[in-house]
Amino acid sequence: MIKIDVDMTKCQHYGQCVFEAPQVFKLNNDDKLEYTATADESERANVEAAIDVCPMQAISIVE
Ligand code: SF4
Repeated sequence: MIKIDVDMTKCQHYGQCVFEAPQVFKLNNDDKLEYTATADESERANVEAAIDVCPMQAISIVE
């Protein structure tokens, strides 16, 4: 299990993370980011890809 944190004071809701890890991140009907705070270990690579593409460096994995 991995824990995911998004600094919502940095997030600009661009949604790049959604393309990398759609099981974890999504944009809601108001185009605001929603995410799951925990994910299966199998999602780690996708979340790391989301971390890499996030232009605001808002995403982190909390070990
Ligand atoms: S890529 Fe980063 S800034 Fe964009 S929605 Fe995801 S967490 Fe927010």
